[in-house]
Amino acid sequence: MSNAWLKYDEKETQACMDFNKDYMAFISKCKTERVCVKESIRIAQEAGYKDFKEMMEKGESLKPQDKIYYNMMNKSLVLMHVGSDPLEKGMNLLGAHVDSPRMDLKQHPLYEKDGLAYLDTHYYGGIKKYQWVTIPLALYGVVCKKDGSVVDICIGDEEDDPVFVVSDLLIHLASKQMQQTASEVVTGENLNVTFGSIPVKDEEKEPVKKNILALLKKKYDIEEDDFLSAEIEVVPAGKARNCGLDESMILGYGHDDRICAYPSLMAQLEMKEVARTCVTLLVDKEEIGSVGATGMHSRFFENFIAEVFNALGDYSEIKVRRAFQNSHMLSSDVCAAHDPNYPEVTSDRNMGAFGEGLAICKYTGSRGKSGCNDASAEFLAKLRKIFDGNDVSWQTSELGKVDAGGGGTIAYIMGNYGMNVVDAGVPVHNMHAPNELCSKADIYEAYKGYIAFLKECK
Ligand code: MN
Ligand code: MN
Repeated sequence: MSNAWLKYDEKETQACMDFNKDYMAFISKCKTERVCVKESIRIAQEAGYKDFKEMMEKGESLKPQDKIYYNMMNKSLVLMHVGSDPLEKGMNLLGAHVDSPRMDLKQHPLYEKDGLAYLDTHYYGGIKKYQWVTIPLALYGVVCKKDGSVVDICIGDEEDDPVFVVSDLLIHLASKQMQQTASEVVTGENLNVTFGSIPVKDEEKEPVKKNILALLKKKYDIEEDDFLSAEIEVVPAGKARNCGLDESMILGYGHDDRICAYPSLMAQLEMKEVARTCVTLLVDKEEIGSVGATGMHSRFFENFIAEVFNALGDYSEIKVRRAFQNSHMLSSDVCAAHDPNYPEVTSDRNMGAFGEGLAICKYTGSRGKSGCNDASAEFLAKLRKIFDGNDVSWQTSELGKVDAGGGGTIAYIMGNYGMNVVDAGVPVHNMHAPNELCSKADIYEAYKGYIAFLKECK
């Protein structure tokens, strides 16, 4: 292990900074899985990727070196670069997730209490709720109306936009609150977003809410009932920022896991001619267990691969199964970086650290590796050779000291197919907080590592 910054000459430092500038623009713009998918499709199209759904409708066939994407309900995305080798020989997969912890609006979100309008939320993913009060918040999402039209909502990130907030109790009156445990200080039902305070004139019942409804009608042409078929996410407002006097780090929302999604996407687009089929998966719902139609547990990816075989004119059930079992995957997800402020939870030699590069996590899980994928030593040896041969700075990591806690990724789900999978991502500080911190060198090394893996793993 050595610090990646030490090996960079001026040119490579610049390349690292340039890559991260683009990454910062990406996460400043892409704060939800929907926006991530939309923007990734736009970028992929520019790189020559074609909509596989459209091709299927037209009955078009596929051939080696074709580049396609598959949009799953606007929340998950598959990018595939078809290789010259038979698909049944397996794929090289990068798999990241594009959902992040946040607050979602409830189905009946809007209400008025004591002269203020609020939006009621249900948080999504594992959060320390007390971190989400008093910070500027933005709203992103879609309102799907009965007439079939979809209204895009995006308020809080433009210079002139208003922002929103969840209030906290003033310290002067918090003597009782300060006695509570951190998990009780702010409860899930406390996470109500302050949304307005001007009442309409001559109105007795809910005058502030009425004013808000009038504004929603005027600005977005939506009614209160339209919230019933909406998905609106409350996320931190503002752009990702350079952090540290040396500007070596990035403070921003949603590093977990766009910090791996973006380098994966860029590595995928970097491929010119490939022998093994290269795939990048950007999936939804990882933060709540990879469930649902758009999570990694869904069969959508398996169905997609069957369709690809069909479009190659080579479909058979046994070939689909072989393609999966013969594949290699980097589950590109974040890991915990050693934080000198909290040394009590990180082990000495086995933690990821800032600046040491792409972090390989053989196992995650909790309480004795429970629920983890535990990558095979044979696969790790293969990766060591690839990374070392391509001057990729990399390190090993685990999720904290034994029995300190734990967690998981999509690795074990893909492991179910019998393929080789290992977690390979970027270490972060304060994971799942409204603003997470990471090192630019690690992002850049991840990008280089993903390229080397796609090109050389067989
Ligand atoms: Mn993650
Ligand atoms: Mn996470």
